[in-house]
Amino acid sequence: MIRQTSSCLISFKSEIKSVTAFGVRYITTVGQYTHFVSVKMDNSRHYDNPFEDYPNPTANTVVSDAANEINENFQQRLRVYTKKLMDRLEEKKKYWTSNDDYSMYTGLAGIAYMFFQYGKCFDESVYIDKATELLRICADKFRGKKEITFLTGIVGPLSLGAVVFHSQGFQDEAQNMILKIKSLSPIVLNESNDLPDELLYGRAGYLFSLLFLNANISSAPIEDELIKQVVALIIKSGYLYSASRKYKTTLMYEWHGTEYIGGAHGLAGILYMLLQARQYLTQTQLERDIKPALEFLQSIRYPSGNFPSSIGSHTDKLVHWCHGAPGMAMLFCLAYKIYRDENYLKTALKCGEVIWSRGLLKKGYGICHGVAGNAYTFLCLFQQTKDIKYLYRACKFAEWCTDYGTHQIRSPDRPFSLFEGLAGTIYFLTEMQQPLSAKFPGYTI
Ligand SMILES: [Zn+2]
Repeated sequence: MIRQTSSCLISFKSEIKSVTAFGVRYITTVGQYTHFVSVKMDNSRHYDNPFEDYPNPTANTVVSDAANEINENFQQRLRVYTKKLMDRLEEKKKYWTSNDDYSMYTGLAGIAYMFFQYGKCFDESVYIDKATELLRICADKFRGKKEITFLTGIVGPLSLGAVVFHSQGFQDEAQNMILKIKSLSPIVLNESNDLPDELLYGRAGYLFSLLFLNANISSAPIEDELIKQVVALIIKSGYLYSASRKYKTTLMYEWHGTEYIGGAHGLAGILYMLLQARQYLTQTQLERDIKPALEFLQSIRYPSGNFPSSIGSHTDKLVHWCHGAPGMAMLFCLAYKIYRDENYLKTALKCGEVIWSRGLLKKGYGICHGVAGNAYTFLCLFQQTKDIKYLYRACKFAEWCTDYGTHQIRSPDRPFSLFEGLAGTIYFLTEMQQPLSAKFPGYTI
């Protein structure tokens, strides 16, 4: 996550005018005024991509064109390397269990999530047992008992715990966790508190958990009515804020005084959760409330195809899931599926080009702002288009991850966690075994 301040604009439209070695000059329209704005391209945050793009003479050592899948030898290499990283993580157990962080994002619950995925993928029940043990600890020791999101709150370990315990036949424990999650709904539905709407700390993060439970437990445990209420309040909140700032969009949100745009804190993450809840939405909500906000997002893209981290940001520098093109690609792929508007697919594909050229980040190999997270864009685009070019690109980013630790400017603050560290890289490499069903953790249901 990167926080930054920004000025508030009434509306923001851009049109490219010229491209130079130092950046891009384009016209931006703010309310009724038109300005020339220089967007600075920041090349210092990523390594130049050394890989040849698809097609090329050796691409068949990575993917099989005929079968539209990963080459078996390459996949075997990834399996071996994933196991090696798992051994490395387990050797460091005293470090990842030594702090009091029990969250999905940077704590023990995230490591449990990775164990669960790994155990399921490789059919190794010992890892599912490890996940079960850790989730019991997390649910018990999590201190913020009223923190309501999947990624940073107690709702994360409770939601995953319910799914894992349900799958293991511990129905009473699963039920108990579901009841605790539901008992937090008055906090989420209280209009007069200052709860934000974003994914990481706000209502969209609670909505993710409700959808996650219904998607992963047969006989959906969360009533439609609760989901509809949360959705309605998120939309209402967006309308109120947007109107208060006189934006020419239906929905806008702020977090700590900044109008973020990206997946973790911003409009894109909120819209993505709303669209994933589409079975609970009315046609009016889809067409009148959400679609104009998608159009607004498209209108504020940088000429490169990347997105600002927040309204008023003119530096085209962040290409992360949390801020920038990766979170957007997943949003616009889903928007295309729902609205069948080709422009949405084009936006998502353009994000893929940005990430191929600027996605090998110096911040490292993590999920939130690292190479593994960025690689999920290619998996999403492969799932949508079935174009093997995207599977190839995901494989090359996975290959980059097999040099774990070599290419990064400094170690992450939580080096073993799901969103910043090694557990996230293992999670991604595990998902490379079944690329058509891969889902960005905590974001895609
Ligand atoms: Zn991040």
